[in-house]
Amino acid sequence: MAEVDWARMKAHELRALAEAGAVVILPIASIEQHGPHLPVMTDTRLGQEVALRAARKAQAVRPVVVAPVVWSGLSEHHMPYGGTLTVSHATFRALIRDLVEAIARHGFRDILISNSHGGNIVAMKQICDELSEQVDATLVGVTYVMEAARAYADILEDQPFIMHACEGETAMMMVCEPDLVDASDLASLADGMREGPDFLSAGKTAYRWRPFTHMTGNGVAGNPARANAGKGELMLEAGAEALAQLIVDPATWAPPVDRRGEGTGGVPFRR
Ligand SMILES: [Zn+2]
Repeated sequence: MAEVDWARMKAHELRALAEAGAVVILPIASIEQHGPHLPVMTDTRLGQEVALRAARKAQAVRPVVVAPVVWSGLSEHHMPYGGTLTVSHATFRALIRDLVEAIARHGFRDILISNSHGGNIVAMKQICDELSEQVDATLVGVTYVMEAARAYADILEDQPFIMHACEGETAMMMVCEPDLVDASDLASLADGMREGPDFLSAGKTAYRWRPFTHMTGNGVAGNPARANAGKGELMLEAGAEALAQLIVDPATWAPPVDRRGEGTGGVPFRR
């Protein structure tokens, strides 16, 4: 099986991959508190694992390479618990722009920004909006827990979707970093599972920013007691499969349709 990890390859191997039309996955994540039982690298580690597995699945159809994970994400809402390294929106945007531009300058034309942290979702979309007109590449942004949401709903027992340091993330970390999961008292950790609107909403549809402390006392949202490694393996594979399907689907990368026709009012459109 061909190498898919950018950081492990030589420069000429990466030049060959650009020449071969490879997709680049640029994972973006966070270093932030994940309760008393998981390390702060959780989103970074899981984002890397899902991206590498997706690349190995997709490379049967077209070459894929996974850039190093951008661990520096937007985690202001987790700062009150300690251990969290957040950056400003301006820094995040500048960093992703610079990395996307560097990747595109090497000739890669299809770039998948693969996000593994909820706090990055809005900014990721804004960055894609802004850069799509500026960079000579097609940019697609995805959050794997959303892309695989249907599969995850079937696997999870106590939660409808992946939350935080929860049944799902704890299960996947039991596979990726078993020595770093403190499973000594998972039964006491369930928190943040209250019914009703989430901590970032108000009224019927309004958005209100609040810290994560509005939702949970110990930094956990969900029930880690339901986690096990078998479930974690299923979830890692489901996330990777969802990303692989996205990558190999030609429609993901096809240019936008231009339905304008010749012109209106007798005046042609600028091309
Ligand atoms: Zn997480």
